[in-house]
Amino acid sequence: MELWQRQLGVCITSPEEIGARFGIDAAPLIPVARRYPLQITTHYLSLIEQPGDPLWRQCIPDPRELMDDQQPDPLNEEELSPVPGLIHRYPDRVVWLVSNHCAMYCRFCMRKRQVGCPTQGGGGSGAIDDAIHYIAQTGAIRDVILSGGDPLLLDDDVLGEILGRLKAIPHVEMIRIGTRVPVTLPERVTTRLCRLLKRFHPLYVNTHFNHPREIAPLSVRACARLADAGIPLGNQTVLLRGINDDPAVMKLLMQRLLAIRVRPYYIHQMDLVQGTGHFRTPVGKGLEIMAALRGHTSGLATPYYVIDSPGGKGKVPLLPDCAERHGRMWLLRNFRGESIEYAECDLS
Ligand SMILES: *Cc1c(COP(=O)(O)O)cnc(C)c1O
Ligand code: SF4
Repeated sequence: MELWQRQLGVCITSPEEIGARFGIDAAPLIPVARRYPLQITTHYLSLIEQPGDPLWRQCIPDPRELMDDQQPDPLNEEELSPVPGLIHRYPDRVVWLVSNHCAMYCRFCMRKRQVGCPTQGGGGSGAIDDAIHYIAQTGAIRDVILSGGDPLLLDDDVLGEILGRLKAIPHVEMIRIGTRVPVTLPERVTTRLCRLLKRFHPLYVNTHFNHPREIAPLSVRACARLADAGIPLGNQTVLLRGINDDPAVMKLLMQRLLAIRVRPYYIHQMDLVQGTGHFRTPVGKGLEIMAALRGHTSGLATPYYVIDSPGGKGKVPLLPDCAERHGRMWLLRNFRGESIEYAECDLS
């Protein structure tokens, strides 16, 4: 058994352990953890400084999770599944939920209806056969995104089998892996894993840091190993109330990510998923954050701010107002808020 597997075995999974460690009353957390599983790695737990801080809020159950009447699956993922575990929304790329487990269960997870539940998701080799068959039969798919749950919770053997079978399909040009283990279980990023992943280029990894304090030394090492294996690293952040809904925090996060060779890719508006209402921010907050990034720091530190539209209609990027048309004259607004006239040339 590898170190990371032993660490998975000693995760915190009961409210009582949290109560004992932080000296709080665990009783209100018990029904929440019964509905949505609780699991926190010792690494992530060690980063919490005090109850209620931005890391605490991401992983400790909150009674408000049970007081939210949104839909469990607002993005209609289940209806967009041609075979179990595949989500085929855009013509040329597909999301494949290869694992139903995560090192830590994030309280704001958009798939909280299914992650950590034993009955759902990728799993067994029959499901792998079906997904591979669909991808092989669908010539338009050139980009396969492994997600979950967390694909890197699979053993190296299973992951290697999946990657190998995808690589053998001629029209699959690239593979992406979405994973939070660099943040929650950085020990999972072993040199052996990196050697395995390297065999399947072009392979991209998108990870998921939400707060500058998550960029701990072990996470820095995990990202360095992946980058040294030639893997381009991106980051998806979820905009979360009380955690990172602050332009200064977000800017620091983006800058620190670039410093560890992780390129900010998306900031996600919280989906309208049941059990996550207390994390939601107004759309104006996201636009305010984008305005604080664009032009004020490296363009590389500026991701897209996206809303994943309800019903599975796709991601839509939002930008602060920065151009207004008056015939052939455009009024541009720069990062200082100055208005600049820009006359288009006559192209005829
Ligand atoms: C986000 C997403 C993708 C990937 O979108 P990109 O903009 O290419 O990163 C693909 N399929 C589904 C269902 C998605 O939600
Ligand atoms: S790691 Fe990702 S999939 Fe897993 S619980 Fe967190 S947000 Fe959800």
